[in-house]
Amino acid sequence: MAGLRVLVLEEYYAIGGMTITEEITLPGFKSDIHAFGYQLANTSPVPKELGLDRFGFELICPEISFSHIFPDGKYISMYRSLEKTIKSIARFSIKDGQTWRTLFNKYLVDREKIISSINSPPTELEIFSAEGYRKQLQSMRSWCDENFESDEAKVLFGTSATFVGLSPDDAGGGQLCHLFATIAQDKGNNVVRGGFVNLPVALARFIESKGGAILSNASVIKIIIENDRAIGVCLANGKHISAKRLVAFSTDPSTLVLKLIGEEYVDSTIIKDIKRIEWGDSVFGIYLALNGNPKYKSDQEVGNSSQIHISPASLESFSRTSYESRSGIIPSDPPCILSNDSIIDPSRVPSPSAGMNRQLIKLLIPTVPYDIKKFGTNYKDYNSNPVKIKWSDIKQWYANQIIDNITYSYILNLKDIVIKKVSYSPIDYERRPTTCIRGTLSCGAVFPYQSGSMRPTPQLGNYKIPTLGNVYLCGSANYPGPGVSMASGRNAAQVILRDLGIDFRNMMMS
Ligand SMILES: Cc1cc2nc3c(=O)[nH]c(=O)nc-3n(C[C@H](O)[C@H](O)[C@H](O)COP(=O)(O)OP(=O)(O)OC[C@H]3O[C@@H](n4cnc5c(N)ncnc54)[C@H](O)[C@@H]3O)c2cc1C
Repeated sequence: MAGLRVLVLEEYYAIGGMTITEEITLPGFKSDIHAFGYQLANTSPVPKELGLDRFGFELICPEISFSHIFPDGKYISMYRSLEKTIKSIARFSIKDGQTWRTLFNKYLVDREKIISSINSPPTELEIFSAEGYRKQLQSMRSWCDENFESDEAKVLFGTSATFVGLSPDDAGGGQLCHLFATIAQDKGNNVVRGGFVNLPVALARFIESKGGAILSNASVIKIIIENDRAIGVCLANGKHISAKRLVAFSTDPSTLVLKLIGEEYVDSTIIKDIKRIEWGDSVFGIYLALNGNPKYKSDQEVGNSSQIHISPASLESFSRTSYESRSGIIPSDPPCILSNDSIIDPSRVPSPSAGMNRQLIKLLIPTVPYDIKKFGTNYKDYNSNPVKIKWSDIKQWYANQIIDNITYSYILNLKDIVIKKVSYSPIDYERRPTTCIRGTLSCGAVFPYQSGSMRPTPQLGNYKIPTLGNVYLCGSANYPGPGVSMASGRNAAQVILRDLGIDFRNMMMS
């Protein structure tokens, strides 16, 4: 749109990164390998600005954004309708239902400001007031306790911090819960029809429609630098590609700085900061092709929910999982996020045929150790084995434990309807060509000192490498961080165009 010639280089044979969709269980079963819920992206102006619907991008907007199911068969849901959400919360506490109305109404007053701040480069760290300072640092538990009295409401809202690897007592979790929940209430928890990959595919088609090009199987191994400027890149296949104006990277910042650029071109404080980035907790995934509908212990209404959170109604269970995971212990009874790929998007599975009713779900455990030291309390028999425990040896066993647990307490027929199971340990996620460092999902843990303009490090918070005139960062390592928001890329574009003297706003409007 700015008249630059754009070439996108992708290491994998297909585009998509952590929004890829692949048939990893059985032919015709299209799993979103990483991201499934189009949550933060709901605040993005990008689809309209680029007219992505012309390139096959379409959202499904389910009536239930997410539900949380408990072992006693009770459940609580966030609906598109505020009144329905309040009613669901009020089954556990009328006061909590009213509090949600108040919190959501406050969000509506500030909505434009919030959305615009997500979609703009971050401002320098400012502590506006005692209240602002408290907001930035408040933990998930503190925020939940301040606002809600029922354990069910606390868990409904608290889970979103767990998704990005925050324990109930980590600083900054409260603000995250508030942001995720209000945006989900306001904009829904949508799903991309046909698979999340249809978003990057539409972006690729847009680039091509403007004369740009996409090259896959193109792994960048070095940036060629001359006179403190990037003049091109070297690919793993030996090819050199020149870049006249600039290069922008959505690789993780440590690979970018330490390997692709090289320490000699970067200030030593940046190197020091990069080496101490905390990546956060790792994730474990189970992809299940099913023949039959899951039978929930809770009301079957939750079966229509695109996303189901599974745990006891207690923040303590989240604390225990974080404690175990961070101590190198395989969590015994971790919370789990179930994404219901096919129930709201039948195009993800083969059409029903005689006696077969195909379904596809993904179970994600958001907090497991990368290096395993021992097993959790429920698995203590295994601790007698002194051999070093490797994920490759135990991942099938662990997946079976999770499925057994869910079948026993939440989805009564789950084990019986599985026709194919594929499990991904943190090592499997890390091996895929994405930014899943140590099998984490956030490309840098979302602690307050790795957020806003200090993300990924204070000197790289403005989407560029200060010592090199034309090397930019444009991925989720930068503000606003993890989640498919399209904001890191769009914010980086604003910085790039400003440096080139091109008016971003005028360009978007013309
Ligand atoms: C299991 C899991 C579940 C998730 N669920 C959700 C969800 O439901 N909703 C949500 O919003 N977010 C979710 N996320 C987070 C979300 O997927 C990420 O935050 C987001 O996709 C990151 O986008 P990115 O562009 O920064 O990085 P990536 O998607 O990792 O893109 C980086 C790209 O760069 C390529 N690349 C890397 N190095 C090179 C190189 N040297 N040369 C060429 N190419 C290279 C990679 O192959 C990749 O395609 C999830 C993440 C995980 C792991």
